[in-house]
Amino acid sequence: MLRLFNTLGKKVEELTTLEPGVVRMYTCGPTVYRYAHIGNLRSYLMADWIRRTLQQRGRRVIHVKNITDIGHMRQEALETGGDKIILAAIAEGKTPQEIADFYTDSFLSDEERLNILPAHHFPRATDHVPEMVEVIRLLFSNGHAYASGGNVYFDVANFSGYGKLSGNLEEGLMEGVRSEVDPDKRDPRDFTLWKRAEEGRDMKWDSPWGEGFPGWHIECSAMSTKYMGEQLDIHTGGVDNIFPHHEDEIAQSEAAFGKPFVRCWVHGQHLLADGVKMAKSAGNEFILQDLADRGFDPLAFRYLCATVRYRHRMNFTFTALKAAQRALTSLRDRVWELRCLNDGGSVSNGSDGATNEWRRKFDDTVDQDLNIPGGLAVMWDMVRSDLPSQAKLALLLEYDRILGFGLDAVPGLYHTPDEVCASVSVRDALRKAANYPRADEIRTRINSAGYLVKDTVVGPMLRPMTEREKAVERWPAVSSSREVESLLDVPDAAEFSFVVLANDHVEDVKRCVDSVLKWTSDEPFELLIVDNGSTDGAADWVEQMSRDDQRVRTIHCDHILGDGAAKNIGLKQSLGNTVVMLDTSVEVTGNVVGPIKALLEQPFVGMVGAWGVTSPDLRHFNEEGAVGAVDAMQGYCVVFKRETLNVTGLMRETFRFYRNLDLDFSLQFKDKGYKIVADETLPFIRHQHRQWEALGEAERNELSLKNFRRFLKKWGHRTDLLAAADPDEHHQHHH
Ligand code: AMP
Ligand code: ZN
Repeated sequence: MLRLFNTLGKKVEELTTLEPGVVRMYTCGPTVYRYAHIGNLRSYLMADWIRRTLQQRGRRVIHVKNITDIGHMRQEALETGGDKIILAAIAEGKTPQEIADFYTDSFLSDEERLNILPAHHFPRATDHVPEMVEVIRLLFSNGHAYASGGNVYFDVANFSGYGKLSGNLEEGLMEGVRSEVDPDKRDPRDFTLWKRAEEGRDMKWDSPWGEGFPGWHIECSAMSTKYMGEQLDIHTGGVDNIFPHHEDEIAQSEAAFGKPFVRCWVHGQHLLADGVKMAKSAGNEFILQDLADRGFDPLAFRYLCATVRYRHRMNFTFTALKAAQRALTSLRDRVWELRCLNDGGSVSNGSDGATNEWRRKFDDTVDQDLNIPGGLAVMWDMVRSDLPSQAKLALLLEYDRILGFGLDAVPGLYHTPDEVCASVSVRDALRKAANYPRADEIRTRINSAGYLVKDTVVGPMLRPMTEREKAVERWPAVSSSREVESLLDVPDAAEFSFVVLANDHVEDVKRCVDSVLKWTSDEPFELLIVDNGSTDGAADWVEQMSRDDQRVRTIHCDHILGDGAAKNIGLKQSLGNTVVMLDTSVEVTGNVVGPIKALLEQPFVGMVGAWGVTSPDLRHFNEEGAVGAVDAMQGYCVVFKRETLNVTGLMRETFRFYRNLDLDFSLQFKDKGYKIVADETLPFIRHQHRQWEALGEAERNELSLKNFRRFLKKWGHRTDLLAAADPDEHHQHHH
């Protein structure tokens, strides 16, 4: 029987249920004022694997997943710095309910595309306000709630079990509580059960405490009770739900009903993207459709999630997704092949010894704290074993009732047009006659018709290509900087390498690239463009450019990489003696080569550029009059000898957002004893910087602060590296 890690008690334990044979399971569902991102979907996949495993073990599972369609509208908009989709919908005159319906449908369709079994109930919060009011009333009568300032609060001091789930006791709690203290609360730990409607609020309901709306947590206590009773067997969510959401659910339900609320709390770890938390503004938050748009089968994402234990953080990368897609396709091909081998014959009942052994192995593995990756490994071992093909097929389909890859939908024979089948026969004959070139020609023709031939033990087999196989790549693209080879130890092949990072805004890219070509035409140089996941035509323009002009080379990224990673791709691939890194907001307005050479010839100078900054303390930075020996070079234009990178190292890729990455990189130079010199007379000018302008105030602050902390942690104490600390340099500060 399934054993799970229970956050309450923090150990793996066998699942017990209130009623024998029945499992009551509640999953905290989506907030429907935005699309569910793939991190959210990972949490629902975890719940689905729990449910499927229990059903496979003969349990009846009652599954409830709530739809949060209340109240957080304003908070959402504030948190995201004004969600454009919501604001646009409101501007179009849509009601909150219409917006919520749209995102609910999208969520349900995502679940369907991922083969997530639909919950038996999807209660919407807006349909259950009376039930919530009822629970709050009970809490009042039990002495666990009080009204103050038009709001109703849960009285935490009066509930002894508070903190048992999260382990957040008094002191720890104070940190979890938001900084501004609500004057209406008796205790800062108290949380809102009912909130008075503020001026101009659309969504509000009547209650014994006046017009208002329910607090964030009460919906789960009220709706789980309505559909499953006062006690649950399993409650799932992501780790961010543990506190305060689930801690508060326990307090509400146990204080209201006087019974233990949930037997087993299961929390899934988060999904990261390219190694960091997903954030829309960082360009690494993906929804399922983003993956589908790139030709991936949504089930490839399911497969990818199956390769990582739910209690481990999972790092999403397109490299990993591509591997998952390949594995899923080959799994389906195995089923297809096995069905052909079976040739319609009856599938064995699977009761023989070897089959039982494989069945037991899979079940035991999965039952051990939902070890889906282990189950996957057993599955592949079984497929490669010497079990008879009929038994393999039967076991695969049985495993798949838990894994959920939809293998039962894989046919033994795909529908294929007659003329394509005819080509396959011709090709087969040519191969038998050892005329391989002709045979390959025909294979290519079959592929361009959208079909794929596989040569198997039963002869050539034909199926339609998957979307991903069909997606004729317009050009090769990389998914991470790790996929790009470093040429740093390869000898110089040019005087200069201009490295330009392009992300959309094709006009800017053109201006920058054209200006380099115009003013550098007489020099042996190369221009390396890193197309960082452009989608607006900039990718096509740079591709064309690199086909037309031998000196231009483009490396495409298949999605937006972090700035550090994208720039490193350019640095790793450049072959010039001197590297000039340019932002597309920069334009070259004269011959730069001569002046740059002269600057770099000065003793100890390792980095030069047009726009420097100085700092008295590594906490404040000034751009005004920062010429001569400076403390850092602004990232718009950074010049150095390529060989220096072997000493300083590449850029730190934990910097996804560009800001402060330049300071960090500059200090790597300083740390190795190089001087940095800014010369404002270099022929560069700067135009609008779109990357910055595209961001809202809140995003700018959040992203900048993160990078600043990262920078301070490494360099904050190194004031010895500042130019001001070097007496010889002082006179150069002002010209
Ligand atoms: P929300 O729509 O924000 O209420 O989140 C829905 C579910 O997704 C909750 O169970 C969250 O704990 C979970 N969740 C949120 N962010 C992530 C993430 N990055 N990775 C995995 N699960 C997440
Ligand atoms: Zn909940």
